[in-house]
Amino acid sequence: YDAFGELPAADDNASGVAGLIELAALLGKASLPLRVELVAYTLEEPKTIDGDGLFRTVGGSAVHAEFLKERGVQVRLMLSLEMIGYFSNAEGSQGYPSRIFRLFYPSPGNFLMVVGRLQDGVLARQVKKAMRSASPLPVYSLNAPASLEGIDWSDHYSYWKRDYPALMITDTALNRNREYHKAGDTADRLDFTRMAMVVQGVYAAVLQSAEDGSKESTVSEAAKYFSPDYITARTRFRQAVEKAGGRYYAIPLDAKGPANGDLTIDVGWIGSDHPKWVLLHSSGLHGVEGFAGSAIQFDLPDSVPKLPEETALVFAHVLNPYGMAWLRRFNENNVDLNRNFIGDGKYSGAPEAYPKLDWFLNPQRPPSSDFFLLKAGWLIVRYGYNALKQAIAGGQYEYPRGLFFGGKQLQPGPVKYQEFLAQRLSSAEQIAAIDVHTGLGSYGEDTLLVEQRNYIAAREVFGERVAPLSPENSPAYQTSGSIDTMLPRVFPKAKISFVCQEFGTYSAVKVLHALREENRWHHYGAGTPDHPTTQKLKEAFSPNDVSWKRSVLARGQELFHQAVELLLSEQEQMNGEAKSLEPRARR
Ligand SMILES: [Zn+2]
Repeated sequence: YDAFGELPAADDNASGVAGLIELAALLGKASLPLRVELVAYTLEEPKTIDGDGLFRTVGGSAVHAEFLKERGVQVRLMLSLEMIGYFSNAEGSQGYPSRIFRLFYPSPGNFLMVVGRLQDGVLARQVKKAMRSASPLPVYSLNAPASLEGIDWSDHYSYWKRDYPALMITDTALNRNREYHKAGDTADRLDFTRMAMVVQGVYAAVLQSAEDGSKESTVSEAAKYFSPDYITARTRFRQAVEKAGGRYYAIPLDAKGPANGDLTIDVGWIGSDHPKWVLLHSSGLHGVEGFAGSAIQFDLPDSVPKLPEETALVFAHVLNPYGMAWLRRFNENNVDLNRNFIGDGKYSGAPEAYPKLDWFLNPQRPPSSDFFLLKAGWLIVRYGYNALKQAIAGGQYEYPRGLFFGGKQLQPGPVKYQEFLAQRLSSAEQIAAIDVHTGLGSYGEDTLLVEQRNYIAAREVFGERVAPLSPENSPAYQTSGSIDTMLPRVFPKAKISFVCQEFGTYSAVKVLHALREENRWHHYGAGTPDHPTTQKLKEAFSPNDVSWKRSVLARGQELFHQAVELLLSEQEQMNGEAKSLEPRARR
């Protein structure tokens, strides 16, 4: 195949084609995370018909690489099996284009060479490493300037020319095989044992590269959704809403972010201005938890179906922007906003055991190592895990610098958000709400927390992920002043269903420890967001881990789409019933 003239061409290049066929047999049985193409290129020989120019313009690899480039296909790696069949154990059998190579490479021609340009160094070493691990065949790599003679004498040239990463796998051709491009390049001079090792090596390198490539693309994919900070998240959200043809409203807050940056609750709006049917999706009520919710919201506006009349999808992006910007769970007044929506204005009291736990939860000193785990363990034994959880996290209104402080009045952000909803959604008759949180439950999995009265119905639709908002049989605890209590007060006539989507991160004890240390830093240290306690808090609520992020995105988007479908199908049903009633009414 692709022989030089009428010559036998066993090493150049029947050996490469044989390797390709063997690779096909191996790869055909493997499960590959990326697309792998095996291609036999014609017209690689420069002087087949009319010299050098042919290969570089209409050779198989030139046509193929151009085809890929035109379509914007990303190529992670191209491997060119140049010649892979000729080996010799004799001293001095290996020739080199320059004597300097003898310092670095062996004298017998018993090895294989991976060749790349200077900028392909990392890839070449990865391929070399994978090949070495797969067989005892010695493999070396060479990264040289593209100007070195011979370095671009094969199909990888076409990929280099189009800025694709490519490497040549070679037995070094004319530097070793004296019958190169001669009548003596016959099959009996090939070393089939070592050729098989080359194939095993290339096979391992392809698997490795495909796996690395799929990981990298997931990393960048997840990074696209998970913003590094509040400002980036907000910018992306606004752009996404605009791209989807929606409107957004920025509700300004007096509190400021780092570098005196402005803070807003952003509301994206798709569909009717005076909707009867509403899906309300909110994020970041707990500040630092907003990285997950914001990532989920990132492309929801652009992924919704065409909506019927009188329907709106409303996205509330980061309800506690101060917390997300400063990497705190609480707001500018140290208030836990999911304990702040108190209906009767009674902002007082605390769970019975909270005063007895104050010394443990809120030491009035900067962060230090003080046997937290030991104390926590002792308290769990003494009070019981669920009772302790309830006492700590249920919400308190007496310790303004303590954890889970619900405030002494409705906070500025919630006041404005509530006003906004009351005004803009006054026509709403049916509201389905999803509020996204993190830090509770199993790592990377979500729990859908619903009120007891909706538990059975929600479980029928969403399955075992559903848990009631009560501490005995769920990872949650009963809280006072949580946001779900606000909606029925603002919309007393509407039918409301509320889901708190909680994504698990680390153990409750670890999350509590992170909250406690960061709170000490905030009140009794410098409170700057670059401190390890702050970074640990971010990790506790938004793990920097691709698999966690992927799971959050998948489950978050899925729940939203399920809720949209549910809302639309209910709507259809009700409209259908209304229509079937009409004729009777006329009669
Ligand atoms: Zn939360």
